[in-house]
Amino acid sequence: MAQKNYSHPRRSFLKNAAGALGLGFWADETLDALPQNTNTNSKPTDLKITDMRALTVRGAPMTCPIIRIDTNQGIYGLGEVRDGASKTYALFLKSRIVGENPCNIDKIFRKIKQFGGHSRQGGGVCGIEMALWDLAGKAYNVPVYQMLGGKFRDSIRCYADTTESNDPKVYGQRLKGRRDEGFTWLKMDLGVDLVADVPGALTMPVGQRVNSNPNTQHMFTGMELTEKGVQLMADFVAQIREAVGMDIPLSADHFGHIGVNSCIRLGKALTKYNMAWLEDMIPWQRTDLLKQIADAVDIPILTGEDIYLKENFIELCRAHAVDIIHPDLATSGGILETKKIGDAAEDLGVPMAMHFAGSPISCMANVHCAAATENFLVLENHSVDVPWWSDLVNGVDKPIVKKGFIAVPEKPGLGVTLNEAVVKQHLLEPGYFEPTPEWDRERSADRLWS
Ligand SMILES: [Mg+2]
Repeated sequence: MAQKNYSHPRRSFLKNAAGALGLGFWADETLDALPQNTNTNSKPTDLKITDMRALTVRGAPMTCPIIRIDTNQGIYGLGEVRDGASKTYALFLKSRIVGENPCNIDKIFRKIKQFGGHSRQGGGVCGIEMALWDLAGKAYNVPVYQMLGGKFRDSIRCYADTTESNDPKVYGQRLKGRRDEGFTWLKMDLGVDLVADVPGALTMPVGQRVNSNPNTQHMFTGMELTEKGVQLMADFVAQIREAVGMDIPLSADHFGHIGVNSCIRLGKALTKYNMAWLEDMIPWQRTDLLKQIADAVDIPILTGEDIYLKENFIELCRAHAVDIIHPDLATSGGILETKKIGDAAEDLGVPMAMHFAGSPISCMANVHCAAATENFLVLENHSVDVPWWSDLVNGVDKPIVKKGFIAVPEKPGLGVTLNEAVVKQHLLEPGYFEPTPEWDRERSADRLWS
């Protein structure tokens, strides 16, 4: 960007004019200091965070808390707390970041990362980290991907699932519709609820139902697929493949809380349909059991949307308990941590797909990270059927997802601003970035050692 400013047409004109007037000395000494060569967005070294405010968009289709970090120089940064989380996860960190220079992104991240956790608990730390990148980009006048080391690609491949149907003909047509829209990668839900009403497809304690235990981990439900159940689910996928073709990657998710052996038997039966990945078959914390499945099944095993921080991904990759990782940048630690996760996985031979279910703010954070991370495969999008989703922001071409891809923005920071009028039509609670003085004095002794 500095180079671009250097060849500013006005400067060339003045330099030529000065040369024509015999003022070469003046042109060389003084023109370099003219304002057009200076970044007037802000003075990054004097930038200070003064405030953090939030609002929550609903129906996008998820609930999306968006934060705004304000500064002493009028520029602000936008970030987003993980979908479905509370904005409180970010706001209770306000007193820890006010007064800091937002361009010191890694320093601030290390200060607040102890307050993040897995799944939605990581949302506040990640939302703040995104907003800091947006601010630093605006302060230095560069897009976020450039600060990460530059791009590997100019557009980001997306995948989008559809609403479910128990009728494989209907479901197959919906998925084929995605392919016809231009998507080059598909994903479907393939839960055991599909066969729950078929006698003899599942075994479980009498009286228990397929969704009786949403908070009981898979290994502890006593629910297993029978041979008949496995065959029915494989037949279901056969019909989906007939509709969408064998040549397009087709991933599967939301299997239900079945045990490890059922996962293996189902995975083996799906081999001939060449699934792109089997997602979250069991909880991500169970490294040894995931490895048991990954070793037995010749289809890529994937997990990661609820994992906070790179060390937890590295453990899974080092054990080769997964074939692909799937961080959600709004849980995994934000933009830089997710690039580090991708790079660490790449060193261990593991590619990175990215889970995402938020607004265009978090989407753009994902896009910059995906552009700058070599082993990236594909980015999720849950909102292609929400007509106003792209209009939540300005500054980019609409719709944001075009024929299954998102163009990497070239504007400073994340590259988007909020469209206030549209955001106001979809607020969970009244008020647009209302003051947050209640979070000014939150204090504790934060050191993790003595
Ligand atoms: Mg998932």
